[in-house]
Amino acid sequence: MSDQSRNGPREQDRTLRQSILACLEEGPLTARELSALVSIREKDVAPHLEHLEKSVRRSGKRLVIEPAECLQCGFRFEKRRRFSKPSACPRCRCQRIDSPTFRLVQI
Ligand SMILES: [Zn+2]
Repeated sequence: MSDQSRNGPREQDRTLRQSILACLEEGPLTARELSALVSIREKDVAPHLEHLEKSVRRSGKRLVIEPAECLQCGFRFEKRRRFSKPSACPRCRCQRIDSPTFRLVQI
């Protein structure tokens, strides 16, 4: 994982995260849905969500992950705290994994 976020706050990223936050205020979304809404690549969504997870706490909210699920055996990635989509199921090795959903909740 890169460490770009330590190069200082970038205005463009900040604006982008505001848009992602606004989308999540409307309801739960997957990374793919978010990427389409704010016009970035799906794989670029995760770092922004990691940043948002910390910043929303200051306003008394939490970013909650609804776990990804294996479409073949139903395994749920309950313990996974990362925001990216898992690539394969640890139980059946299937690569058809349902995307995790991200939800903003008021504490
Ligand atoms: Zn599985």
